[in-house]
Amino acid sequence: MSDKFHDECGVVAIYGHPEASKLAYLGLYALQHRGQESAGICTSDGERIYTHKSMGHVADIFTSPVLAGLPGELAIGHTRYSTAGDTVLLNAQPFSVACNKGKVAVAHNGNITNAAELRAELGRNGAIFQASSDTEVILHLVAHSSERTLAAALRDALLQLEGAFSLVFLAQDRIIVARDPHGFRPLAVGEMEISGGRKCYVFASETCAFDLIGAVYLHDVDPGEMVIAGPEGITRERWAPEKDRAQCVFEHVYFARPDSIVFGRSVEESREAMGRLLAREHPADADLVVPVPDSGVAAAIGYADESGLPFRHALIRNHYVGRTFIEPSQAIRDFGVKLKLNPIRHLLQGRRVVLVDDSIVRGTTSRKIVRMVRQAGAREVHLRISCPPTISPCFYGVDTPNRSELIAFDHKVEEIRRFVEADSLGYLSLPSLRKAVADDKHEYCYSCYTGDYPTELVNIESLIGTRQKAH
Ligand code: AMP
Repeated sequence: MSDKFHDECGVVAIYGHPEASKLAYLGLYALQHRGQESAGICTSDGERIYTHKSMGHVADIFTSPVLAGLPGELAIGHTRYSTAGDTVLLNAQPFSVACNKGKVAVAHNGNITNAAELRAELGRNGAIFQASSDTEVILHLVAHSSERTLAAALRDALLQLEGAFSLVFLAQDRIIVARDPHGFRPLAVGEMEISGGRKCYVFASETCAFDLIGAVYLHDVDPGEMVIAGPEGITRERWAPEKDRAQCVFEHVYFARPDSIVFGRSVEESREAMGRLLAREHPADADLVVPVPDSGVAAAIGYADESGLPFRHALIRNHYVGRTFIEPSQAIRDFGVKLKLNPIRHLLQGRRVVLVDDSIVRGTTSRKIVRMVRQAGAREVHLRISCPPTISPCFYGVDTPNRSELIAFDHKVEEIRRFVEADSLGYLSLPSLRKAVADDKHEYCYSCYTGDYPTELVNIESLIGTRQKAH
């Protein structure tokens, strides 16, 4: 049984650039918000595969000497977030192996929902696993495939996977990327011209990575599609028939950066639309609109725009909060939140405040923030959330806790309002969220708001149990 879900990751791949490792590093730097626990890069110089991975932040891991030790024109990179105790280096990605299909490395964003079954089966056939990560399963499937070429073996392996996966593979002379047939997690393709009119191909979870390295966004990898960049150029091929699209709406609600284009749509545009629709559905008799930074900013701008209320940054975020900090021995109330956010009293004093955030998960942080705003002198606090109540865990790569820890699973909106101590509470409705992401064709996954999952989940009870253990 795999004991860890893949949570919240970012991937990049570079083909055909003399400074591939530096570009991968910059791409990962732009994707740091997708995972802060560990990061890694694998490169190929056509012969060997070089790897460096470590715990920590991208900028701290990849120093000049480290990057100098990653030669070659091909690179893949990964940044990973995980919350459980097994955040050991062994689980850091990319993973690489030398097998009968050559030397291969892989990095993965998503969550393979049948990994436990595949792992048990492979184990029975003699496979030895180094990590508890599901991604290793993919490499074993590739190695075990009776197909001769890497692309064919990959197709063979991918057809056995269920769930969410945006994958980047590095071989000695090519990059192969693929997306699952539902297209849960994003994966974009870009290109850049380099000296001599040569083209370099780049792939990333979000287009903000392309902006930093000066690449142009071309299109997304289609669900069920594989894109191969090799000496013969770039080719697109379908490895599986496309299923009903299930693009993760939470990318637009919270996870992606607002300056990215995700699933072909601007994240900022979606978030502002969420805020505008929220203002229509849940207006408030108030004096000003305040975002919870950074996650609530774009929606709060939309809310202020639509309601005509002034927008103020009355909560200031310290962007340099690290993972560990020394608490004073005499406990300070709500210390963790105070470390991250501080209110501007004179903006809040005596005012009726609309506080906008993207989601309430357990409710504990939201309560601390509501209290903080009130203690800073706000007369009323009207909390507005730019998505529907989160009632069900995600099995496709977003880190949500077990169902029993989700406050909206077993509490009504009025009960949640009382818990977070707000004067009023309003969530965006599902139809409005759909409208905000322009989902006319039903191409998004909303399972964290509906409990309806777009794929069959084998052993759902054990998955839920695992989730509880892991978090
Ligand atoms: P809480 O009130 O404790 O449920 O925390 C809500 C806060 O957590 C909001 O400010 C959200 O922006 C943030 N949040 C929501 N989902 C996630 C997630 N998957 N990972 C990290 N933070 C999240």
